[in-house]
Parts: sequence; structure tokens; C-alpha cells
Amino acid sequence: MSSAPDTRASTTGERTFYRTCPLCEATCGVEIKVEGDQVKQIRGDDDDVMSGGFICPKGTTLGALHEDPDRLRAPLIKRDGKHVEVSWDEAFAFIAKRTAEIREKFGDESFAAYLGNPNVHNMAGAFFVRPVLQALRSRTIFSASTVDQMPRHVSCGLMYGNPDTIPVPDIDRTQYMLMLGANPVESNGSLCTAPDFPGRLKKLRQRGGTLVVVDPRTTRTAKLADRHLAIRPGTDAHLLLSITHVLFEEDLASSDGLDDVANGYAELQAAVSAFAPAAVATVTGIEADAIRTLAREIAAADSASVYGRMGAHTTEFGTLASWAADMICAITGNFDRPGGLMFPYAAPARPRREGPGRGFSVGRWNSRVRLAPEVRGELPVATMAEEIETEGQGQIRALVTIAGNPALSAPNADRLEKALSSLAFMVSVDPYLNETTRHADVVLPPPSVLERSHFDLSFTSLAVRNFANYSPIVFEPTSISEPDILARLALALNGAGNDVKPSVVHDMLLRGLIEREVASERSVISGRDPNEISAAVADLPPSEAMLDVMLRTGPYGDGFGKNADGLSLEKLVANPHGIDLGALEPGVPQVISTASGLIELLPTAIADDIARLRADLSKEISPSSMQLIGRRTVRSNNSWMHNVGSLMKGRDRCTLQIHPDDATRLGLENGSRAKVTSRAGSVEVPLEITTEIRAGVVSLPHGYGHDQPGSALAVAAAKPGVNSNRLTEDGRLDPLSGNATLNGIPVTVEALAG
Ligand code: SF4
Repeated sequence: MSSAPDTRASTTGERTFYRTCPLCEATCGVEIKVEGDQVKQIRGDDDDVMSGGFICPKGTTLGALHEDPDRLRAPLIKRDGKHVEVSWDEAFAFIAKRTAEIREKFGDESFAAYLGNPNVHNMAGAFFVRPVLQALRSRTIFSASTVDQMPRHVSCGLMYGNPDTIPVPDIDRTQYMLMLGANPVESNGSLCTAPDFPGRLKKLRQRGGTLVVVDPRTTRTAKLADRHLAIRPGTDAHLLLSITHVLFEEDLASSDGLDDVANGYAELQAAVSAFAPAAVATVTGIEADAIRTLAREIAAADSASVYGRMGAHTTEFGTLASWAADMICAITGNFDRPGGLMFPYAAPARPRREGPGRGFSVGRWNSRVRLAPEVRGELPVATMAEEIETEGQGQIRALVTIAGNPALSAPNADRLEKALSSLAFMVSVDPYLNETTRHADVVLPPPSVLERSHFDLSFTSLAVRNFANYSPIVFEPTSISEPDILARLALALNGAGNDVKPSVVHDMLLRGLIEREVASERSVISGRDPNEISAAVADLPPSEAMLDVMLRTGPYGDGFGKNADGLSLEKLVANPHGIDLGALEPGVPQVISTASGLIELLPTAIADDIARLRADLSKEISPSSMQLIGRRTVRSNNSWMHNVGSLMKGRDRCTLQIHPDDATRLGLENGSRAKVTSRAGSVEVPLEITTEIRAGVVSLPHGYGHDQPGSALAVAAAKPGVNSNRLTEDGRLDPLSGNATLNGIPVTVEALAG
């Protein structure tokens, strides 16, 4: 292939583009009609191989995001407390100068970075953030992963050897689904890419299957279910271990199919012996008989899958909950087979191999202040404020944020806000002046989502069906490309001047990728001349060149001439609705890379942590105690979408949901304002009294709090809401993963006068 065909046949007249919506993990196909530089219409792409026409309200707003007058179009530098537009050269020269000064005064370890979720929804983020992190010369890296998904990575790392080897429920073929703390009707799925998740759940029931939802709220997903169990927040792991207890007690568990591929089956029964249904009924709020029923149903189903997400994982026992869901599938014959948990095999994945691997470990280094262990190359974001505040060698003085808004997403927001404002230097790559970037000395805005091409590198590896889909750019970027921004940022952090071209960084990465492939015995291009491979992709833009090499050397690839029918970027461009690569196939033992070469059903770290869960069984529960949980709405995605007028229309969605019994007890009225207080702080928020939440639990959505001076988000500021992370504590972590505890926060609620 010489170059990606230009689908932008003309810049005048009406043109139609088929793209993947990059806003959430569902990866829906969208049809975009444009005229000149205007978006005329966005609708679901009926022919998309994965989504078949489904989109949510967010998907129709790609044009609004592109046209948003608050979206930054030029770099900003803060002068005398105000952000002013500057040229790109000026911005990068300033970064190089300030970086050199700070390195000189405080050393390399005074630098840190925070990466937000949009990086994994974006090819440039996947390919070109790494050189920026390397240029920092510091191991102090934080990301949104330790507020939303690290428990899943850790449990999978411990069980399968790689934290990114994550099985997903085979939703299209399963006959029974137990879902904990997940609300895909609103979120559209998380760590499980399944466009039209609600439609797939309805089909599960239409084919005679059963859906059981465990959640403290009667969510829209719970309303779709055959049964809803309103659990006490933070006790999903207790419930899952109790189900395991019943499976062994009633002889419903089996090691069939596990003997040759897994370790630890024999030790499981003893490990869960304390979790008899009667022992967990009080703490979970789920009756013992209901727990027994769940165990019997899972064991009896033709196929079953257990799927937990935010509500189950962002708790103090998140890693245990994530592990237990997979383990239950394994010991009931619902692992690595159709209808159970299965491993996707994405088009850009590296070839699998059999035999022991390097395994997974945490704690290769520790945070400086509280000695929290490194996990997957990063430190818990809950430690960021103390690392900025605490004096001494290694104190964070300079921060780079890329597509992240930790001021709203990280716990103990009041403390973090103060810490961010004390930094000596901060650079943000972000399209908005928001609650975080208002602290930045330099803001570098990337092009809009319609000004960049797209391939979902992360979410194809979490999809319930194997597929590949490439999106061309719709509008020519009016500023420099994101690969160039990130490469120039890496160069500036390394002290390079503006005369060094970003292509130096792009070429180095591409060359590294090709050389690794030709040197690998497992690669389809093993032993080939790297110059020949480089020449084949030489005319492609930087992200496309990397992608093409990965696709062509991946499991479905054309091997640069070895398999004429194989996949390449050229083939994807010729198939604008995507290419279906088939249903998920069994992947064990090739997907397993633990040191033993076997699935670890009871990893040592998990076995040790069960003692902490056991101790929690006997904790006192006051009848008047209140616990805070979060919630999602389909019109929102963390803090990203709050500046889109069409999504923010209607009633205020940032309300505190509370059960009528609690409201009566506390003298609270619907629509009045209440003060919510935790150990970290307090917020004042309107009340929504509803029976759709368990008594003793209150719920506040996250991603709000858009009333900070210095931000420039006019639509969001009109309905600012409150930042739920002013209530979450940075001292409450899941110890195995370092993930913040965002659900089950003890709070008090009181009426506000007037
Ligand atoms: S569900 Fe997600 S991917 Fe699909 S249209 Fe909505 S935001 Fe986009």
C-alpha cells in the first residue's frame, strides 16, 4: 500500500463519511454528512459490522464538539494569571526553557504526568504519549486507571499473567448473566465493548436467557433484568465469595477442563470457607436464600457469565471482586468457551504463544510519601496531591497532563485543587480550559475528533466479537496534528529546539516497531529486511504507518505479501463499515503468560487479601449510617461532555438521590438542598427522593463541579453541579491495585435551611 486513499473527494458539496464514534468504549459506527466545513447530520451507520445503526445521544454531538466555540484552537500560555494565545513555536520554546530550569533546580524526579481516559480512545494517544513519558525521565506517572479500572487489570495480571489480557462476557451467546455494579444501559459498557449493549441484553432474554443485576440502585439496566438485588455498596466481593462457597458446599463446582491449564482449584474451597451465605447476608444486604439461588442458577445454566464493573471494582475490595467473577466462571465450566467469559483476539494484537511467560507483579517501585506500590508502571492517583505537597527529594514540581481532568476525577478534590495550584510548572494537552488545565502554564490543544483519523486500538481487544474498523479524517486540521503535538512536546521536554522536526520521533517509533517484528521469531515478518517494511508504509501519516504494520503483522494480517487475503489498512479503508472477524474463539493456553504457564485460580496476593475481606464480615453496621455511590447517565461521560448544549438540556442531573425512608428520617424534602459531608469535605446539592435507591445509600453523579474561576466552559458552567470527589477520600484504596474507593463512602446528609 502506498498511501491511505483520501475519502475526502471534495471540499465542496455534500459528502458522507463513515466513522467510529470515539467517545466511549462501545465504538459505534456513525454516518456523518458534511457540506463544506459544516456537519449537516450524524446518525448511526446501519451497515456498521458491530453496531448496526445503534448510537446514543452522545454520538450525534461529534459535530457540536468540533464546532464548540470554547474548544481551543491555538496554544495558550499563562501570563500574569491569564491565559493568552501564542504560536506553537512560542509554546514549545517556553516548555523547553522552563523544563531546563526545573531540571536544573530540582532534578528529573520532580516531573510527573497524568493521563486521562481519552488517550485510549485515540491513535495518537496510543502511539505517541510514550515518548512524552520517556522525555520526562521520571517514574511518577498517574492515570485515570486508578480511579476506574485498575482492579480489573490487577486481577487479570495475577490470573493470566498480563494485566491487559482481559476476558469479556460472551454476551451474544450466553444464557445467564450476573452483572454487578454495572449499568451499561447508561454507560454503554466498560471493559467490554458491545455496541447496543441494551439491545444485546434484551436479546439474551428473548432467547430464554436470564439477566440478574446486583446494584444498590434500580438502574435502567436493573429494570431490564429478570431479577434485581439491591446490594449494600462495596460488598460485591463478599457476595461472590459466598456464591463460591455454595458452589463447593453443594458440589456444583468442578475442575473439569481445568486440570491441565490451571493452578489452585484444590485450595479454593478452604479459601472461601468463612463466606457461608448466612455469614454474608447482613453485610451484603442479600438474603442467604438469594445467594444460594444465584450459585445454583450459574451452575445449572447452559452457559453463564459474571460481569462486574465500576460499582463492584471501585471499592476497597475491587480486585477481589474482579478476580472472584472470573474464578466463578472458571469453576462452573463457563470460561474460555462460547457463552462464558472469553478472550478477544484483536486485529492489531501480537501473535500468541504457548508456555510460561514473565507473569505479572506490582511494586517494582513505590510512591515517595506513603510507599504505595507501583502498578502497571504507574502510581495511584490518590497519592498525587501528597506527592506535590510533601517537601523533599522527588517532590513533584512540574506536571504534564494529557487529556485528563484529575481536578474532577481524582479523590479528595479540595486537596488536589490546592496542590495543583502550587506547582512550579504545568503543561496540559487538552482541547479545553477546564478545572484542571486552568492551572496549566501552557495548554496545547489537539485537533477535534473530526480532524483526526481513528482506529480503536484498545477497545478492539475488549470486544465481544472480533472486528476492525478504520475512520478517515473528516476535516483537515486547522492546526498541527496530534502526533506532531506529542512529538514536539517530547522534544521540548528533552530540551530540543523548534528546529528539530517531529518526524524524528515518529520515525524512531516506527523503526523500533518494525525492528522488533523482524527480530521476533513469532512474527510473520521474522527475518525480513526492515527497510523493505519501512518502504511499504513510508507514505502513510505517522499513526497510520504504525497501525498498518500492526494490522499486517497481526493475527489476521497480510504479512506484507505472505497472505494476499489478509488484513491491511488499505483493506480497512476499502471497507468503511468495518470488517467482521468473527465470534470469539477459545484462547487458552496461548493467552496465558503467567510464570507457571497456567491460569492462577487463587493467586497468592488474592489468597492473602481474603483475610481482609473476612475481617470485614464482622464490622458493625449502624442502622442510620449512609453510604455514597456514584452514577452515570447516558448524556454524560465523566466530565467530557458537559459543554455540549444538547446533552445538558432539561432538568439538572447533578442531584443527590436518596430513599424516601432516609429523607423522612432526616427531614428532607424533594427538590430542596442538602449538605453532604464525608471525612474529606462537603458539598451542597439538590435532593431527588426516589425509591430507586436502596435505603441507607445516596448517589451523586461524577464529573461535575464546573464553577471554577479560570475555566472557559460556558455551557457546563451554566449547570455546574458539584464535584463528587470533594467527598471521596484519598486515603481509602483497594490495596492490591491502588484504585481509589469511589463507592461506599460513609457520609452524613442534613437539610439546608431555606
Ligand atoms: S454509545 Fe458510545 S460509541 Fe456509541 S454513540 Fe454513544 S458515545 Fe458513541
